[in-house]
Amino acid sequence: MFFNASENRTENRNENRYDSMKYRRCGKSGLKLPEISLGLWHNFGSADCYKTGLETVLAAFDAGICHFDLANNYGPPPGSAELTFGRILKESLLPYRDEIIISTKAGYDMWPGPYGEWGSRKYLIASLDASLKRMGLDYVDIFYSHRPDPETPIEETMGALADIVRQGKALYIGISNYNAEQSAAAISVLRNLGVPCLIHQASYSMLNRWIEDGLLDVLEKEGTGCICFSPLAQGLLTGRYLDGNIPDGSRASKGGFLKAASITPALLKKLNALNDIAKEGGRSLSALAILWILRDRRNTSVLIGASSAAQLKENLAALSQTALSLDELDRIEKVLKMES
Ligand code: NDP
Repeated sequence: MFFNASENRTENRNENRYDSMKYRRCGKSGLKLPEISLGLWHNFGSADCYKTGLETVLAAFDAGICHFDLANNYGPPPGSAELTFGRILKESLLPYRDEIIISTKAGYDMWPGPYGEWGSRKYLIASLDASLKRMGLDYVDIFYSHRPDPETPIEETMGALADIVRQGKALYIGISNYNAEQSAAAISVLRNLGVPCLIHQASYSMLNRWIEDGLLDVLEKEGTGCICFSPLAQGLLTGRYLDGNIPDGSRASKGGFLKAASITPALLKKLNALNDIAKEGGRSLSALAILWILRDRRNTSVLIGASSAAQLKENLAALSQTALSLDELDRIEKVLKMES
């Protein structure tokens, strides 16, 4: 008798979850990723509301978002987003494990001493073991080097990643925050080790276009996919700040990576001009921002964050809309050239 994973399913999830999502092939690999993926950088730490996080992840899964992105240091405190996700898996999603792509990373500051960050073999292997324990998993689908290490030889960092795949602790390897030149070097070392580089995770949005200056060309040439993080510029490319106020509880109100002081009158003018284009097309600003990234087939997936299931659903509406027209793209381009 064949094992049927569905026999173990504990909750009734949406049976039609794959109907409204589209999937793109990740570079030249066998893996497809949803056009929208969900990241757990913010909102899933032990300092955050578990129920809200649970609802957001389940709403995502029910909408065909089968890729969840984590890192060792997501929280706060660091490590707690993996604990939260492990609890969600255990309580609701473990019977669906084969339907889900889970990624985690190591590279930033995680524990004291010389082995708690960057790209040594010592750090990467110990960190992934700790991540697996926190999530209650035997393997992750994608393991990333979270940032290039200027001091460790690239052969050591990539060698550790290749060994992690051979040990069965990760199915695929990715790199994140590597520039075009560093990416080409890392991809080449991995190829020589017989482990292709599946994906690059890079910041990209209408307000941050650095990957257009060479990185996307390298990834296309090498057959490596690209997943774009902070596609909504941490909330700037949504309705959150358009009136110039900083709502209580918003990311800009918390004084983290998004600073209230960076929301200048010139930036607000630009955001409102983009919002006007969105409104004329019957879209929200977040939908415009997502569709703008998806205009380029080299971008495999748009990796959003959301602090509620309602935000997630608003962003998902992008996928039921028509692609941006040439006229819209042209007008967006003119707005993006405005000073801010
Ligand atoms: P986004 O640009 O999508 O920002 C998400 C935030 O925007 C939400 O938490 C929310 O903030 C606000 N938001 C989203 N949708 C709406 C909406 N419809 N209306 C109003 N506000 C909205 O992405 P993130 O910066 O969160 O990054 C996404 C993921 O990318 C991370 O979780 C992580 O997985 C990955 N990442 C990777 C990095 C790397 O170095 N590899 C670095 C950073 C992120 P709020 O409600 O709190 O104001």
